[in-house]
Amino acid sequence: MFDKIVIANRGEIALRILRACRELGVKVVAVHSEADRDLKHVRLADESVCIGPAASSDSYLNIPAIISAAEVTDAEAIHPGYGFLSENADFAEKVKQSGFVFIGPNADTIRMMGDKISAKNAMIAAGIPCVPGNNDPLSDDNKKNMKLAQKIGYPVIIKAAGGGGGRGMRTVHTEGALLNAIAMTKAEAGSAFGNPTVYMEKFLEDPRHIEFQVMADAHGNAIHLGERDCSMQRRHQKVVEEAPAPGITEEQRRFIGERCVKACIDIGYLGAGTFEFLYEKGEFYFIEMNTRVQVEHPVTEMVTGFDIVKEQLRIACGERLSLTQDQVKIQGHAIECRLNAEDPRTFMPCPGKIDQFHMPGGPGIRCETHIYNGYKVPPYYDSMIGKLIAHGETRKSAIARMNTALSEIIIDGIKTNIPLQQDIMNDSAFIIGGQNIHYLEKKLGIY
Ligand code: ADP
Repeated sequence: MFDKIVIANRGEIALRILRACRELGVKVVAVHSEADRDLKHVRLADESVCIGPAASSDSYLNIPAIISAAEVTDAEAIHPGYGFLSENADFAEKVKQSGFVFIGPNADTIRMMGDKISAKNAMIAAGIPCVPGNNDPLSDDNKKNMKLAQKIGYPVIIKAAGGGGGRGMRTVHTEGALLNAIAMTKAEAGSAFGNPTVYMEKFLEDPRHIEFQVMADAHGNAIHLGERDCSMQRRHQKVVEEAPAPGITEEQRRFIGERCVKACIDIGYLGAGTFEFLYEKGEFYFIEMNTRVQVEHPVTEMVTGFDIVKEQLRIACGERLSLTQDQVKIQGHAIECRLNAEDPRTFMPCPGKIDQFHMPGGPGIRCETHIYNGYKVPPYYDSMIGKLIAHGETRKSAIARMNTALSEIIIDGIKTNIPLQQDIMNDSAFIIGGQNIHYLEKKLGIY
């Protein structure tokens, strides 16, 4: 196992990785911005290095500063967490060139999956069902694009090949709106992602978002850990996630899971990854692969009893997967509510000082958060301040436990989305389960 690693992230995921390191006896170097000196994992780390000013572009996205921090602390590996540089192939490459281990897949894999067009083509080659579309960059030929949209059938969606975080896509319902949508998405993609390439696919009207967790080692072994349902979304961003996905049969799980495993082996995948699908009328359609640990990984950990982050570290050290597919058992049901520092009605971020924080507890409750009494949520980063995860024997008991936990948790001083999460947990359609990706926005009256 590594002696020491750098955690190139912040907030709850940095703390989660620190905890995995502690269990494995790995020392931790926390790198942080000037605004993040008081982060919980920075205080708990063995060493810490300030890598720049508050703005992410000067700190958490500052590749030379992060690599220098690994050099001066004599660390062996870098864990990128999620977001920031976690899916930046150039970073993975530079980490390796500088003599460190990048805890994640190879740079080439990240590059291939980071481009949604090449990812889709790799998946088609591996036998994974994809959303019907052109699977090539859209040209500037207006007539050709109009023909293509007709062939796919309206509505279509124009998506940025390099897009992420729910941004860089536009739905088109009629031919009259097509060319403008392509031009606007291209311009937006160019400025937001530095890559104006866009492609077109069928817009599925009422799908659910269901994703499969995979893990692969450097010895040609891969497993899947079942699926998660992440359909409760607002602006293409996940709000609640659960595992397993309501109504998905063991046979469907095996069918898609086996294909994901095969795709991992085909592309030489390494570490933790997620295959994201839209699911409509009983069919799965691949949309993208995330080549990192995800925010919602705990629901899979709760139903499988498997520690994804520890396994990431072991795999990066060259160890074999510690489970075979036969040993993966899904037990009970787990739900995760993301906790955001935001107004529950307007969704405006609400940074500030936390006057009082009480953590909920009880059977099956897991609280992943870096906040504490007196902690100041800085205004510079994502508004997510933690996650509450409830596990129960059944979905019903997981919801009941989540409701209890949400009623116990106290976060005073800032506004949070806890009232919204309570609303969702008591929503009759959510309680039935299996709602589509538009359900939450419809409920909120914004779709
Ligand atoms: P990102 O990388 O930004 O997360 P994804 O490709 O994973 O982008 O898509 C995010 C979300 O956008 C999906 O969960 C879904 O809500 C919506 N979406 C993407 N593609 C389609 C599609 N073809 N039809 C309908 N909705 C889509």
